Amino acid sequence: MNSNSRRPQVVIAGAGFGGLEATKSLAKIEADVTLVDAQNHHCFQPLLYQVATAALSPADIAWPIRAIVREQKNVHVIMARVTGVDVQARCLHTNEVQLPYDYLILATGATHSYFGHDDWARFAPGLKRIADATEIRRRFLIAFERAELVENDAERQRLLTFVVVGGGATGVEMAGALAEVAQRTLRHDFRHIDPRRSRIVLIEAGPRLLPAFPQKLSDYAARSLQMMGVEVELGRMVTVCDAQGVSLQDGRIDAATVIWAAGVVASPAAAWIGAEHDRAGRIKVNPDLTVPGRPEIFAIGDTASVTDREGRPVPGIAPAAKQMGHYVAKVIAARAEGKPPPGPFVYRHLGDLATIGRKSAVVKLGVFQLTGFLGWLFWSAIHIYFLIGIRNRFVVALNWLWSYMTFQRGARLIGEAPR
Ligand SMILES: Cc1cc2nc3c(=O)[nH]c(=O)nc-3n(C[C@H](O)[C@H](O)[C@H](O)COP(=O)(O)OP(=O)(O)OC[C@H]3O[C@@H](n4cnc5c(N)ncnc54)[C@H](O)[C@@H]3O)c2cc1C
Repeated sequence: MNSNSRRPQVVIAGAGFGGLEATKSLAKIEADVTLVDAQNHHCFQPLLYQVATAALSPADIAWPIRAIVREQKNVHVIMARVTGVDVQARCLHTNEVQLPYDYLILATGATHSYFGHDDWARFAPGLKRIADATEIRRRFLIAFERAELVENDAERQRLLTFVVVGGGATGVEMAGALAEVAQRTLRHDFRHIDPRRSRIVLIEAGPRLLPAFPQKLSDYAARSLQMMGVEVELGRMVTVCDAQGVSLQDGRIDAATVIWAAGVVASPAAAWIGAEHDRAGRIKVNPDLTVPGRPEIFAIGDTASVTDREGRPVPGIAPAAKQMGHYVAKVIAARAEGKPPPGPFVYRHLGDLATIGRKSAVVKLGVFQLTGFLGWLFWSAIHIYFLIGIRNRFVVALNWLWSYMTFQRGARLIGEAPR
């Protein structure tokens, strides 16, 4: 592709937060950019749990990649799955085409890890893509439908038990939202069951929820969830997930719906290029985010292992991926224009946020901390600001206002009953 052109060929694998930011930051550079993604849309993952719990529809939090970069004339979008890299020939392999490159940016993110138990995935789906969110939504809404029909008390209770594994931000947000659906949204919708008698169990192996937050905010989150009816189980580890529920070292919870929010593993990008990686599969990169020995290959976002100036690992969050994407575009621009390279990548941590239900959140911005409704207002403003497109901002804001006033969730449609 463009093999006769003298303009540098930049291939970006992944149109998530990092890849998209790199693409946009290369807009004014004399280079041809090819952006490859296995999906045709960019997903705003921080709000996936709201699709999974029927507060928002998929199209509210995802946008066609082509539409996002349509005005950027130096970008060519390819929907294809990356399968490998020929580092000698400088060519990215996909299931559709081969893409020669002068610069390659690996931004294929991460996915959930079952710590060596991949067979648990079918019983306990994780939340990473739109398809995961709609599958979780289907499972938990179907569980209420079935519970309405069964005669057996134990089976009814199993159907009305929802287990969330992992007490990080996603687990806390999922558990809070599920509790609200059960306690408020659905409470008048059934005739034979009382959705308020559902059990929502949040299981965390560590000693506290939200380990990235200060202890005070972790405690606040745990208390708030408990007040919403969530059973918070700290220091307990899931040892088995099966079709009937989960086993812990010291007990068993029968549950029809189990959601996995416990671990993360990088995309196989390290294997594609034979690079050194950390335990989570993230490529260990140089201070300028290039791969050691491969100055033409960069790894960014969740697929890169990067440390900050104090030697602490840069967290796998959207702002970090965006900052890396912006930075590597600067490095490539400097090289393409024969200018001196920028200094090493410097990560700026903007803060940590997590919601608890539809009107509370914990927020940490440097020394500044917010909880409760004020935290939620701040969280909402930030998330609406970062959504792409006026329509999405408007629709999401309206949905949240509606849900705030009525407890209702509009996106509760699922497929028909099995034939
Ligand atoms: C449920 C959830 C909630 C989160 N909440 C927050 C939050 O509140 N705040 C926050 O800052 N961060 C949050 N994060 C983390 C944040 O979303 C990630 O850190 C961020 O998306 C990383 O950006 P990235 O560009 O590295 O990867 P991603 O944004 O994941 O993008 C990777 C892209 O690569 C594509 N891809 C993967 N493999 C291939 C392949 N083989 N071929 C082609 N394309 C491929 C994917 O389709 C995807 O588009 C959350 C993540 C999840 C899953």
